[in-house]
Amino acid sequence: MGYHPEFDQHWNNIATNLEPEGRALINGEFTEAAEGEVFATYSPADGRFITNIARGSKVDIDRAVAGARASFEAGNWSQVSIYHRIDVMNKLADLIEQNSERLAVLESLDMGKPVRECLHTDVAGSAKAIRYFASCIDKIYGNISPNTGGVGMITREPIGVVAAITPWNFPLYMAIWKVGSALAMGNSVVVKPSERASLTTIELGKLALEAGVPSGVLQVVPGYGHEAGAALGLHNDVDCVSFTGSHVTARKLMAMAGESNGKPVYVEAGGKTANIIFDSADMDAAIPAAAGAIFYNMGEVCFAGSRLLLPESKRDSIIEQLIEHSKLWIPDNPLKDRTMAGALVDGVHLERVQGFVDRAIADGATVMTGGHALHKESGGYYFAPTILTDVRSEMEIAQQEVFGPVLSVLTYQDEEDAVRLANDTNYGLAAALWTNDLSQAHRVAARMKAGNVWVNCFHGGDMSMPFGGYKQSGNTRDKGLIGFEKYTQVKSTWINIKD
Ligand code: ADP
Repeated sequence: MGYHPEFDQHWNNIATNLEPEGRALINGEFTEAAEGEVFATYSPADGRFITNIARGSKVDIDRAVAGARASFEAGNWSQVSIYHRIDVMNKLADLIEQNSERLAVLESLDMGKPVRECLHTDVAGSAKAIRYFASCIDKIYGNISPNTGGVGMITREPIGVVAAITPWNFPLYMAIWKVGSALAMGNSVVVKPSERASLTTIELGKLALEAGVPSGVLQVVPGYGHEAGAALGLHNDVDCVSFTGSHVTARKLMAMAGESNGKPVYVEAGGKTANIIFDSADMDAAIPAAAGAIFYNMGEVCFAGSRLLLPESKRDSIIEQLIEHSKLWIPDNPLKDRTMAGALVDGVHLERVQGFVDRAIADGATVMTGGHALHKESGGYYFAPTILTDVRSEMEIAQQEVFGPVLSVLTYQDEEDAVRLANDTNYGLAAALWTNDLSQAHRVAARMKAGNVWVNCFHGGDMSMPFGGYKQSGNTRDKGLIGFEKYTQVKSTWINIKD
């Protein structure tokens, strides 16, 4: 999968002719918001206007939830043969693949990540995920209780109407994790994409209809979090909320559930991943991976390796090499085929990232490289890969999720100290460690208070591995067979056997 500079024109041609859909999808039809309101979306790559998007409100959410409920009760998805569901989902994966270039360009324009990344990771990964979910449908069994005197059947049923509230960093892919697993279990879904990157999720709705997902089973209502999102959170006829985003919003949604029907709220709410390099590590692997861990996707990744923990003795030589590797991640126009890092999602976010860096400097951090915006003349929002040293664990930069290309380097004295620093956070999504000492790998992995631990790699695993966090990073797991559980109810049926 080499770079193809001659593709630059190809991507730009697609971008010029996109004509993206910005309306909501409710009950099988693309429709304006009930109150006719829209908001404009611009590309963070160069500030170009992309389209207007329907600004969904409570009225639209009410209509979408009612339609989702009606479709669920009608049973044309929830009760159909599982083999029909499998076929439709595989068809959806085919359609995603057939539309992969268009989806990739749309994603790239909308949120700023490199088009090549969109194609090979977001879009290809989405099709793969749908196929994985489809392949699980006929392998999830119920149980029979070991009791005598009756037959105790423990079965799983779809939970009903699922609200999916999704983030902007992997817009299509995160929507697919939620929508794909929920649909696989037979639910109806109302998805509200992030207002910062809604377009590929709307496109997903279109492809799902084309694949044969019946009208009303997948509703897409774009809009703002405090409007459409809150209307879902407060809805009395939504059976569960599945959310990925900030921990602040996660807590709001939990409170909304308490104020309404007490629905379960499943959240994945960010991270502050420690990436520990031990003395014995294979440095040729660990150092480039440490750069990729934080600079990939411009650091807009919940599991980004934003804290690098180094042994004091090797600090200077590792940092020197890291600075070299960071150059690979200097951002450029995301529609160029060779670009490794693109623009941040918007100007507000760029300011937020700059604010974190400025406060870190005021707190005593030293900028080894980066620390500022780039390419302002482009009209887009680019930030240089940034490495900060002299960071102490109690500093804001070591505790808060920046969601940008900003690496904090901390040093540790010994293994005990490394473990203490790694766990010294309210987050617990992931941790990575690099060592050639097998016992150390097991010892430290077991002590990480994180839902995902990677040894001698960063972000290892596949669809079969559950993903989610400890502590305030979340309360659920996506992917793997366990990822389906939240979209189901457990039913215990006791059938009496007469003597
Ligand atoms: P970020 O700050 O990174 O955009 P958010 O948590 O604000 O993260 O956004 C994640 C998702 O949550 C988006 O779809 C957003 O619209 C939604 N959201 C934001 N605020 C609320 C809210 N008050 N109620 C419901 N959903 C919300």
